[in-house]
Amino acid sequence: MHTKSVAQLVKGLRERQFSSVEVTRAYLDRIDALDSQYNSFITVDEAAALAAAGGADERLASGTANALTGIPIAHKDIFCTDGVRTSCGSRMLDNFVPPYDATVIQRFKSAGAVLLGKTNMDEFAMGSSNESSFYGPARNPWNTDLVPGGSSGGSAAAVAGLLAPAATGTDTGGSIRQPAAFCGITGLKPTYGRVSRLGIVAFASSLDQAGPMAHSAEDCAFLLNTMAGHDPLDSTSSTTATEDYCATLGDSLEGLRIGLPTEYFGEGLDAATGGCINNALKELEAQGATLVEMSLPHSALTIPTYYIIAPAEASTNLARFDGVRYGYRCENPVDLHDLYSRTRQEGFGEEVKRRILVGTYALSAGYYDAYYKKAQQIRRLITQDFMHCFEQVDVIAGPTTPGPAFALGAKSNDPISMYLEDVYTLAVNLAGLPGMSLPAGFVEGKPVGLQLIGRHFSEARLLNVAHRFQQATDWHLRTPDSAKGGTL
Ligand code: GLN
Repeated sequence: MHTKSVAQLVKGLRERQFSSVEVTRAYLDRIDALDSQYNSFITVDEAAALAAAGGADERLASGTANALTGIPIAHKDIFCTDGVRTSCGSRMLDNFVPPYDATVIQRFKSAGAVLLGKTNMDEFAMGSSNESSFYGPARNPWNTDLVPGGSSGGSAAAVAGLLAPAATGTDTGGSIRQPAAFCGITGLKPTYGRVSRLGIVAFASSLDQAGPMAHSAEDCAFLLNTMAGHDPLDSTSSTTATEDYCATLGDSLEGLRIGLPTEYFGEGLDAATGGCINNALKELEAQGATLVEMSLPHSALTIPTYYIIAPAEASTNLARFDGVRYGYRCENPVDLHDLYSRTRQEGFGEEVKRRILVGTYALSAGYYDAYYKKAQQIRRLITQDFMHCFEQVDVIAGPTTPGPAFALGAKSNDPISMYLEDVYTLAVNLAGLPGMSLPAGFVEGKPVGLQLIGRHFSEARLLNVAHRFQQATDWHLRTPDSAKGGTL
């Protein structure tokens, strides 16, 4: 059961080969047996999951089912879930039980999907390794000494370890694509505004976007069909019409023009990782695509630009955690100032404090023009680079990360080298574009991700390219040894 894709589970449930309660039970048993290796879940409510599965079975029996009815899905612990603790990987929200569902969660619930559990993540989604979580790091199923990537590391590890058929993540600067690459799964960060942000704990509001993480592009398309769409309660959500993201998966790649930015293949890219990417590009060429060399001249500025804008927005978003309204409160405060400062000192971890300090500094009256305003101007130049390229090509391709997953602890005391991990993913968020990562090979047993970037609202095209690639390759079907044990 646990080796089935979402597409196969959908079919099996429809044909009554098995029930949603059976599928959900199977995954809950695997979480029980195997998650001590990965630490990929923060919260699992078995009884609630089985009750939802029972409800889904009734819908399946009465003929009122949707595509995802009865499919268990794990959600990053950044999505507010009514009555289920939503920690955002932080001590600050360790005791926070939201009174409402994020729009994404509510959409999955109305489709009849089963909420399997809440997954581990970097604290407030700040990180590239899942090591900043208050609940301890998640681990990479391909080698548990390695990080799974971050910040949606728990979602990636849960899918790669076959503890969930699919999961949700959020991506502010790469947090869906980078862990997808490290764990050998497929992840899509949609166009900014394609998926509602209501009820997602805010990190950097002009960059945050939620998306699906699964084994294949086809499975991501199933999830995106449920997630995407306008939300009147999120003023940044787009009114552009959605598509049936499954409908064009099989379209031919004949005539597709793929741009290869020289900046993504130069210094800093691990040679073996680059080799996997070149092989993947040959496969796309064999299917009729043309490869076009091009340039994104402002690429070198993406890391400094992002690491001004994201912390600036984070510093304002995280001002709400003050010990008064919700979440952690320090013991016996002597006065209001003591309440604020000790609550924040004790409730936030080191990386979050670093971002708040950088962001507050960048926004301070004397420095605003020099840092924040300048960063916004460069953001425009970075976006224009992409717009010029998309006059000549349909899709841009390159590596998702400079190399495969690194060892736990290898970068945790070196924030700059951790930030360099994001060199190929950040620009996509700064420009609001859709991007995805899909498995494209292995380097010494560690998965490598191919990144595809498209025009605004071209999710269907990206999923189509990825699906055609996956029809001709089997990287996305490989299973890590650590996932082979357990029940079933
Ligand atoms: N690694 C990046 C950061 O730490 C991106 C995180 C994300 O996308 N949530 O900011």
